[in-house]
Amino acid sequence: MVNKSIFELAQGLQSGEFTSVELTRNFLERIKQYDSTYNSYITVTEEQALLDAENADQRIQSGDKGLLQGIPIAHKDIFCTNGIRTSCGSKMLDQFVAPYDATAVEKLKQSGVVVLGKTNLDEFAMGSSNESSWYGPVKNPWNTDCVPGGSSGGSAAAVAAGLCAAATGTDTGGSIRQPAALCGLTGLKPTYGRVSRWGMIAYASSLDQGGPIAKSAKDAAILLQAMAGFDERDSTSAEHPVPDYMASLDDDLNGVKIGIPKEYFGDGLNDEVATAIDQAVAVYRKLGADVVEISLPNTHLAVPTYYVLAPAEASSNLSRYDGVRYGYRCENPVDLEDLYKRSRGEGFGDEVKRRIMIGTYVLSAGYYDAYYLKAQRIRHLIADDFHNAFEQVDVIAGPVNPTTAFKLGEKTDDPVQMYLGDIYTLPINLAGIPAIAHPAGFDSNGLPIGMQLIGKYWSEPKLLNMTHRFQQETDWHQQLPTVE
Ligand code: GLN
Repeated sequence: MVNKSIFELAQGLQSGEFTSVELTRNFLERIKQYDSTYNSYITVTEEQALLDAENADQRIQSGDKGLLQGIPIAHKDIFCTNGIRTSCGSKMLDQFVAPYDATAVEKLKQSGVVVLGKTNLDEFAMGSSNESSWYGPVKNPWNTDCVPGGSSGGSAAAVAAGLCAAATGTDTGGSIRQPAALCGLTGLKPTYGRVSRWGMIAYASSLDQGGPIAKSAKDAAILLQAMAGFDERDSTSAEHPVPDYMASLDDDLNGVKIGIPKEYFGDGLNDEVATAIDQAVAVYRKLGADVVEISLPNTHLAVPTYYVLAPAEASSNLSRYDGVRYGYRCENPVDLEDLYKRSRGEGFGDEVKRRIMIGTYVLSAGYYDAYYLKAQRIRHLIADDFHNAFEQVDVIAGPVNPTTAFKLGEKTDDPVQMYLGDIYTLPINLAGIPAIAHPAGFDSNGLPIGMQLIGKYWSEPKLLNMTHRFQQETDWHQQLPTVE
């Protein structure tokens, strides 16, 4: 039963085929049995999960028909969870127990989910491979020599390995879509402001957005329905009505215009990935879509722009970890300066320190105009590329990652190589628009290939609709790794 979709599990729970307690026990058993291999969880909340499941069973018995009632999920360990350690993958927060729930966590709780635990991630969500976590790297269930993608790699690996039914993730520059693609899953990065950032530990506040990682578009729709909505506690949350994401899943795709950016298919894109995307586009054509070539001329500026802006925001957001109020504190500091220096020096890992240094540099008085301000300007050009393209087309299609999952350790000594792999995902965050990653085939080594659909502001219903129709024509999303 652990490999069923949320929708199928909900049917099983409602019909009495199994209870939430049975389902939850099953997932917990599997976590015990297999997660020493994948390292996808940082914290497993067994006792609380079983209590939640008992309560959900009671609500189901008294007639609650909610699709998430009693469904066991996991949260990326960047979402604050009341009374539960919230580490953000860092030694800095290893002992931090959040005193409240993030809004997304609270909303999912109200929908009746059972929380199995908190999933592993790159430290403070900085990474593309889930190798920078203080709790060690996560392994890809399709091949444990390979990375699962980052930074929500624990969430993706746990869903792919059947260690939870679905999971939450966050995406600052690709962290929902990349691991979803590399693990054969469906991941949605919503429009900026769609899901509240309240209680979601900040990396780069103008780019961060929470969303679902699931086995299908339908499951992603069910989760987004619960997570989305205005929140007065987040000043960047949008007062935009939340549509019924399930209602439009089956809409036909006749006449939908898909744009293929020529800049996405040049050097650097692996041939097998390119071929799989071509074939997936052919499926959309068969479903009635029209396909045209478009241009996003500033694509090549996205990596340098993002890697100025994200570290700048990070250096400011991470200044709160000073060893005084909460988080790691060094032993026996001799004075205040020593306390700051050693707490931060010992509490943060290398990638986080690199970002703080870059961010501080680009914000410093002498370089602010040359780097930070310039990057802000280019951010507008990149967003304009998309707005211009959307005058011609409804949706843009392309790859998620330039390659399939690479070997653990392959890029850890070369951060720039790692950053370049984000080329197809970063521009979307810079523009604040939504995008979905969905499975589109396998390479010759049996590793999943992901495809990305990018939409206008608030076009989540269209992205979910297209992916759902694609998933009715194909079975890539139903294939599962061998878990042992
Ligand atoms: N790989 C990008 C980074 O390291 C994006 C990470 C994310 O989306 N959280 O900044």
